[in-house]
Amino acid sequence: MELVCLDLEGVLVPEIWIDFANVTGIDALKATTRDISDYDELMKMRLSVLDEHNLGINEIQEVISSMAPMDGAKAFLDDIRSRYQCIILSDTFSDFARPLMKQLDWPTLFCHQLVINNGKITNYQLRLKDHKRKAVEAFKALNFNTVAAGDSYNDTSMLNQADQGILFCPPQNVIDEFPQFPVVKKYADLTELINKHFLL
Ligand SMILES: [Mg+2]
Repeated sequence: MELVCLDLEGVLVPEIWIDFANVTGIDALKATTRDISDYDELMKMRLSVLDEHNLGINEIQEVISSMAPMDGAKAFLDDIRSRYQCIILSDTFSDFARPLMKQLDWPTLFCHQLVINNGKITNYQLRLKDHKRKAVEAFKALNFNTVAAGDSYNDTSMLNQADQGILFCPPQNVIDEFPQFPVVKKYADLTELINKHFLL
């Protein structure tokens, strides 16, 4: 049984925080783990900035509704889902991803959750640390032949775990550090590599 596991941001949709910062013009939200290496500190900063701007989950979802998946992402995903089982493994939060998942016709998404109280985001909850890798490990134990594709550091452990890992549009430092994975930059080439693996 064939299973395709895909990262979300950078593969099917833009980086949600960066896009959100651009749309709202809130520069502080452009910070990433490259600027603040402690993820918990980064998230607490983001949540306090959202609060300062009176952005609750409804306002945030409205902004995210104006964003769109990457060009060609929907057609690529539809094609993959028509032939294989497909699960999206992401480190985003389900409430943020929702307006974008709607535009992708609600594919299965495993990610994290926000803690919301009366529309206000009070905290966040990681479902499980290193969940991408652990999910692929579990799927393999369930006898799935698994291909995984992602664009960044937080994908490399799941790419290693999969029967075939593929980097999609990664930054150069990731290409240099993980030469064991093939690199593709177009959906057509990603589809071809996935098909090639399963036909072998
Ligand atoms: Mg990504």
